[in-house]
Amino acid sequence: MAEDEWVTGKVGLRVGNVPLDLEMTVPARPVKPHRMLPVFHQMADSFADIGIQAESEAGKHVSCKAKCASCCHQAIPVSEVEAYYIADLVAAMPEPRRTEIVSRFAKTLEHFKTIGWFDDLHSSKAGSMKGAERLVLWYFNEQIPCPFLEDSMCSIYEQRPIACREYLATSPAENCSSPSAEGVRLVGLPIKPSTTMKQLTEGEASKRAGFLLLIMALEIAKKYPETFPEKTGEQWMAEFFGKLTSEPQSVPEAPPQAVRKRPKKRGRHGPKR
Ligand code: SF4
Repeated sequence: MAEDEWVTGKVGLRVGNVPLDLEMTVPARPVKPHRMLPVFHQMADSFADIGIQAESEAGKHVSCKAKCASCCHQAIPVSEVEAYYIADLVAAMPEPRRTEIVSRFAKTLEHFKTIGWFDDLHSSKAGSMKGAERLVLWYFNEQIPCPFLEDSMCSIYEQRPIACREYLATSPAENCSSPSAEGVRLVGLPIKPSTTMKQLTEGEASKRAGFLLLIMALEIAKKYPETFPEKTGEQWMAEFFGKLTSEPQSVPEAPPQAVRKRPKKRGRHGPKR
């Protein structure tokens, strides 16, 4: 896209006691929602930073570090748009990497189908808190890594799902190797964009497949052709903040204000884990 096809907007929020000014560069013309994901990634990172800062002020520090990949053996929830985004990401990979990743996705999905994990997910057993906890632990205890995990590092770190950005532990790293509600303490996030993203892009695949996981991304893209509408970046942002402010978890004080100006490169680069 040419430079004049972007617009930069500013959003002023107050999250708890913390003022947060976000500057976001979004497409000026109508686009599918996956084009907005880098902006939502940036936002998720900013909200995570506020949570980390609050923990730090309370004397608690994030224990996640490079090559500690316990959380990459969990069932990772994704929004519908992230599922298509991941499928596109894999489709664009050069060979032989693409074939390798596609094969990992297929094997992982097949494994959880074969052991009956998805049967339980779609049964009434998953409806209760106890049933959901059991499913989470069952998935983790299978110790099947995320298809993108390589040498204990995320191979798509900059593009990783929002749920991965929100999972930050302050308990000792070794506790994550046997995650139970008692042993693992997570950073309390004031706002979770992952929840809003799910609502923003809930479409045909969510209706048919129900709860979406990262490992289902390629199958979803194959089974249900993507049918998202196109909207301008400003429209997507307005919708996102509209949903965010209607959730009890969020406490923005002011509505987003778009300010047109020349685009600026965005980006946040953290260490791989
Ligand atoms: S996408 Fe990356 S961070 Fe998320 S579970 Fe997979 S390997 Fe881990």
